[in-house]
Amino acid sequence: TDPESATEALMPKEPDNSLRPRRMDEMVGQRDVIERLKIAIDAAQGRGEPLGHILFDGPPGLGKTTFATVIPAEMRTTVEMANGAGLKAPKDLLPYLTNLSEGAVLFIDEIHRIPKAVEEYLYTAMEDFRIDIILGEGVSARTLNYELRPFTLIGATTRAGMLSAPLRDRFQIREHLGWYNHAELCEIVRRNSVKLKVPIDDGSASVIASRSRSTPRLANNRLLWLRDYSQSKAKGKVDAQIATAALDMIGIDELGLDKQDRGYLDTLMRVFLGGPAGLEAIAHTMNVSSDTLEDEVEPFLLRSELIVRTRRGRMATQKAFEHMKVTPPKVTP
Ligand code: ADP
Repeated sequence: TDPESATEALMPKEPDNSLRPRRMDEMVGQRDVIERLKIAIDAAQGRGEPLGHILFDGPPGLGKTTFATVIPAEMRTTVEMANGAGLKAPKDLLPYLTNLSEGAVLFIDEIHRIPKAVEEYLYTAMEDFRIDIILGEGVSARTLNYELRPFTLIGATTRAGMLSAPLRDRFQIREHLGWYNHAELCEIVRRNSVKLKVPIDDGSASVIASRSRSTPRLANNRLLWLRDYSQSKAKGKVDAQIATAALDMIGIDELGLDKQDRGYLDTLMRVFLGGPAGLEAIAHTMNVSSDTLEDEVEPFLLRSELIVRTRRGRMATQKAFEHMKVTPPKVTP
């Protein structure tokens, strides 16, 4: 099909956990969050109690899962990983809850996707470390009140706004993960280039950092691609020019936008004449899901002031027209 998207599909994804920090001190940035968490961990350990439940929210790739792995490591405990999309009924939670050892962590990614029934089941588990298990069916059904070992729930969501207030309120600690700045991304790239044995200089680190949409996961993915590119095209050499050529080749522009990001802007500017256009209409035209657009594409475009959200829909800004080199439609008064 489309050659450009084919190249992106070939792009190396992070070999899952190899670049993920193992300890909190290996994490770059998010200093405030880390400082608060360290205090909470310290205090909980001092009291010999499990850490309070924690909710992380923020766009994809900013470190929610990483926090869910380093926190149990700091506490020298284990973690069970679940995904909200897979928890369709209360019984899907049972194996996770009953397997937890005392003080262990249950991580639920995409927690905004759990249905109401599962959410309500979580309430007593979170609050009293108890659950009701229904045995049998119909008239012979009995309810068994089951005591859980005290645990810490860590929830992650890209949509804090979609969580119901009762669920949100049951998390003692709520942290929003924000975007990473240029220096932090350079630092992540430099550290990981050592792990990957890519001889990277400051110039190339800076090219990757500025084309990673303020997101560590993307910085890692771009670095992995640069490693492949350099090996096969530049005899293992890396400099700013080679880094630029490598990223150009897979359609990553100077702002770090990829093909899908530019497709969104292009649709909004050409098909909808700059908007306002509804998210669903844009998604239909692009033939992608509106969730993908809302979670993965829009946050950075909004943050970069390339689009704005109005009550009547999304609108492209002047900056977007300039970036995409599209002439804005004439406004007829
Ligand atoms: P999320 O769960 O928010 O989608 P992840 O925690 O999976 O994001 O982060 C994606 C990748 O980015 C991780 O595997 C890790 O390598 C890297 N990363 C995220 N946050 C940091 C950080 N603070 N310091 C260093 N690397 C990070």
